[in-house]
Amino acid sequence: MNKIENNKRKQINNIVSVVKLSSLMFTTIIFFQYFFGKNIFAQESIYKNYGMNVVAMGAFLLFLVYFIWSCSFNKKISEQNIKYEHFIENTFFILVFIIAIMISGAHLSESKYIFIFIITTSTIQSGMKKGVTIACISSLIILAIDLIYAPNLVVNQYFQNDLILSGVFLLTAWPLGFYVKVEGEHIKKLEGLANEDGLTGVYNHRYFQDALKTKIEMSNRLSQPISMIFIDIDYFKHYNDLYGHQKGDEVLKSIGKILRENIRKEDIVARYGGEEFAVLLPNIKENEAIIIADNIRGIIESTKFYGEENQPKGKLTVSMGVSVYPDKCKTEIELIKSADDALYRAKFFNKNRVETYTSILDGLKNDIDDKDVELVASIKTLISVINAKDKYTYAHSERLVFYSRLLAHKLNLSKIDTDTLVYGAYMHDIGKINISKEILIKKMPLTKEEWELLKEHPQNGIDIIKPVQSLEKIVPLILHHHENYNGTGYPNKLKGEDIPYLARVLTVVDSFDAMTSNRPYNKRKTYEEAVEELIKFSGAQFDPKIVKTFIQVIEENKDSLDSLD
Ligand code: GH3
Ligand code: MG
Ligand code: MG
Repeated sequence: MNKIENNKRKQINNIVSVVKLSSLMFTTIIFFQYFFGKNIFAQESIYKNYGMNVVAMGAFLLFLVYFIWSCSFNKKISEQNIKYEHFIENTFFILVFIIAIMISGAHLSESKYIFIFIITTSTIQSGMKKGVTIACISSLIILAIDLIYAPNLVVNQYFQNDLILSGVFLLTAWPLGFYVKVEGEHIKKLEGLANEDGLTGVYNHRYFQDALKTKIEMSNRLSQPISMIFIDIDYFKHYNDLYGHQKGDEVLKSIGKILRENIRKEDIVARYGGEEFAVLLPNIKENEAIIIADNIRGIIESTKFYGEENQPKGKLTVSMGVSVYPDKCKTEIELIKSADDALYRAKFFNKNRVETYTSILDGLKNDIDDKDVELVASIKTLISVINAKDKYTYAHSERLVFYSRLLAHKLNLSKIDTDTLVYGAYMHDIGKINISKEILIKKMPLTKEEWELLKEHPQNGIDIIKPVQSLEKIVPLILHHHENYNGTGYPNKLKGEDIPYLARVLTVVDSFDAMTSNRPYNKRKTYEEAVEELIKFSGAQFDPKIVKTFIQVIEENKDSLDSLD
């Protein structure tokens, strides 16, 4: 609607400018008559002195200045400046019209109607109040001229005639202003409807996108942060399946209401998608946004929803992701993506919680050379592309990082080796970027060709990260994470200790997660079943020593692992 409003304003400004320039043209004719034409008023004129000539000349020059200024004027100015500018413009026009009337005979002038131009334009531009004010000022001016220059007449005919003209002025400004006002209100109402989500009463997706742009610009201007909360209802499909969409819609309505009631006036809450909401919080830092989000999450958790006892966790809850501009992201698109990413983390860590955006690669920033910063940024983009293709990969990488940290600690790895393992775990599938979504999430067994293609991903992965010198330690992990301890793996069929140590660690962690998570092509195993599988393939696929330590890690951390479900 902003665009439409701007467009409308532009068109109105254009037409108003034409009217203003036309009025200047009429005034110029009056001036020309005074300078060059047969000066019909010369005989009666009360101004026969040169001083008036100078004034008239000055006024004429002003026309020219205004003309040039209005033609070259850049229309992109702020609201406050527009008001200021209208004031100057109106004063200018009134002064010029006064001069035109004076030199064309003052009370005798036949050009007093000229004020009608500024009355109509200012009413259209600034509304009834301004219009009526200018009509009153104009009326007072022409009546005052009559009283001053024809004071001794018993019946001041000029005054009487001009009373009628004043009536015309007012009757132009008033109904026109009223029309402008009604139209403005009507547009506002339509705007409200067009920006609102019909079901929940919060803003809709399109308005949110517009508002995001403006708020980001504002945040840049004022050097203030801007936080975003993404909200998704947990197990909502389950709820709809149990009670039907109508009951589901009731829940959406109630959540919309809770959100509206628990934000500030300047915050913007919108229905971002089917059962997803987004909140924009100008001038709120991330830690404040987390508190606000968690408060709302708590309110929703404790609100009684129809039939919520049959939800998987016995309650209807939401998960939330928080991110902040410009700390965590550099553009509005990144802000949305990072908040969505954080929401995904919240879902991943057992739902009904608030998570913030953290990229594992952001931690890397401190350790890499300046010259590699941009390359790492593009690797981050690549990883988000892979995640978008296959959400599974995202959660997988996150879980691998989680396991790797625990295992690295148990294996007493050095800080450097721990970091290498963590970054390697995070990026190990980066070579899948070239593999199509269809193959990545295929449910049927892969064909021979597809399998060959998939087997190229370790090599493709190192081709991507090789140019980044700071990541050179990770190369062996990415290249060899599919080698088997007995030499039957790929790509180099390396055997036993020939496989780099951290790559052997990654193989165990990677395979364990593959077994215990839902992959499109096989059903997940329980942790006990997966441990048995690790033992079974110990020495064949896996390094037995690493398996042994990893099983200890799993057993010691069973509780926190359960929260990864
Ligand atoms: P998760 O906890 O992972 O979020 O699981 P979920 O079941 O909520 O999954 P997801 O977020 O993908 O939910 C999408 C579901 O939301 C599908 C649909 O049943 C429901 N939904 C989307 N739009 C609407 C809507 O306008 N009205 C209703 N009643 N339900 C909707
Ligand atoms: Mg959803
Ligand atoms: Mg959901």
